[in-house]
Amino acid sequence: MKQRALRVAIIGGGIGGLTTALALRRAGIDVRVFEQAKEFTEVGAGVALGPNAVRLLGRLGLEQRLDTIAFRPSAYQRRRWHDGKILADSSRSGVLGRQMSLTVHRAQLLDLLLGSVADESLLPGRRCTAIEERDDAVRLTFEDGSAETADVAVGADGIHSVVRATYQHDTPVFSGKIAYRGLIPMERLSFLGEDRHLHRMWLGPGQHFLTYPVAAGTVMNVVAFVPADGTWAVESWSAPGDVLRLAEHFDGWDPTVLGIIRALHRTMRWGLYDREPLPRWSVGRVTLLGDAAHPMLPHQGQGAGQSVEDAIVLARCLERAVPDTVPDWLRLYERIRKERTERVQHASRISGEIYDLTDPEEQERRAASTLQTKGAWLWNYDADEEFDKAAAEMTR
Ligand SMILES: Cc1cc2nc3c(=O)[nH]c(=O)nc-3n(C[C@H](O)[C@H](O)[C@H](O)COP(=O)(O)OP(=O)(O)OC[C@H]3O[C@@H](n4cnc5c(N)ncnc54)[C@H](O)[C@@H]3O)c2cc1C
Repeated sequence: MKQRALRVAIIGGGIGGLTTALALRRAGIDVRVFEQAKEFTEVGAGVALGPNAVRLLGRLGLEQRLDTIAFRPSAYQRRRWHDGKILADSSRSGVLGRQMSLTVHRAQLLDLLLGSVADESLLPGRRCTAIEERDDAVRLTFEDGSAETADVAVGADGIHSVVRATYQHDTPVFSGKIAYRGLIPMERLSFLGEDRHLHRMWLGPGQHFLTYPVAAGTVMNVVAFVPADGTWAVESWSAPGDVLRLAEHFDGWDPTVLGIIRALHRTMRWGLYDREPLPRWSVGRVTLLGDAAHPMLPHQGQGAGQSVEDAIVLARCLERAVPDTVPDWLRLYERIRKERTERVQHASRISGEIYDLTDPEEQERRAASTLQTKGAWLWNYDADEEFDKAAAEMTR
C-alpha cells in the first residue's frame, strides 16, 4: 500500500530549526516551523561557521548569498594577555592548512535562512507547551490553545528545550563564566590597521578576550569572557552589560585590548552554560537537534555549525522515511550524530580551560592545541559523507 507523504513539525526557528526546514524543503518534504517569538529575530552578535558547516550551507544553495554577508579572517591568532606576544598563529604554523571559517552577523545569517524557506512553512507566535505521541502521529499543543499533528516532531528549541524536558530531567550546567558581547563599527578601530582582518584571542589567567570581523568586514564582533562575579549568573544571550565594569576586568591588559574596549559603546552579558550529553535524543517519532540536543560552550565556535550538521543528516534520513519507518530513521540520525556532538561539547570545555589557565607557561605550551583541534578533526568532517557511509552499512 502506498504511504502518504511525511509531515514534519520543527519546534524552534533558530539557526538549527531553519536550516533543517530548508534541507527538508529541498528534499520535497512537507515541513512547518513553529517559533515562539512573534517574529523570527536574532540577537545582534557574531557567530563563526567552520568549514564543516560552510560546505553544507553551500550545498543547500546558499554559497553566494553567504559570501555577501560573511567575512573570512586572514588568520587565527592566540596572544598573551599583557603584552600581546603571539602564542599561536595559523598563518605561520600551517596547522589549519588552507581552511578558514566564515564569521557572520547572526541576524544576517537568520535573514538569509528565512529568505530561503518558503513563507508557508514559517509559523511565528506559536509557543509549544506540550508534546505527546498518539497512535501513529505526534500531537503538539501551543500556548494559544491550538494543536497540530505531525509524523515527526523535531525539538530545535534551544538550551531550554520544552521537547527535551518532556523526556529528560536534566538541567543546564553553569561554567562559572560570563561573556560580555558587543559590536563595533570598523571605522572606530582604524588604529588596528591590517590586524582588523584577523580572528584574535588574548589569553590570560581566568579570562580571555576574542575579536573577529562580521558583516562583510564592516563591524568587529567582541566577546570578553570573565569569571561570574557571584551576583549574576542568569542564562541569557542578551542581558544588558556595563562597559565600565567590563573595562575593569581588563585593567593591565595589552593596550590593543584596552583600545578596543574604549571603542565599545554597548554590551550584552551572556551566562555560559552547556549540558551533559543525553543517553538518547529520540523517542519514537520525536527527536532533538542543535542546542536542544547538545548545548555547548562557545570555545570552539561550533554551536551553530553542529546544528547545521544535524540538520543535513536528519534531512537525509527523513528523505528515505515513510510515516511507518520514522522511528528507525531517527535512530540512524542519532547514531550518526550523537558521538560527534559529544566530542565537540567536550573539546569546547577543554579549549575554554586552556584559554583561562592560570599558569602562564602551561597556557603558552597548550595555546596551539586549540587550533590543532580544528585542523585535526573538527573542520574536516563531512556530514553528507557520514550519512552515506552509515546508510551503506545499513543496506549491507
Ligand atoms: C547571541 C548568541 C551568540 C552566540 N554565539 C555563538 C558563538 O560565537 N559560537 C558558537 O559556537 N555558538 C554561539 N551561539 C550558539 C549558537 O548560535 C547555537 O548553538 C546555534 O545557533 C544553534 O542553535 P539552535 O537553533 O539549536 O537554538 P537557538 O538558536 O537557541 O534557537 C531556538 C529557537 O527556538 C525557539 N523556541 C524556544 N522554545 C520554544 C518553544 N517552546 N516553542 C517554539 N519555539 C521555541 C526560540 O525562540 C529560538 O528561536 C550563540 C548564540 C546566541 C544566541
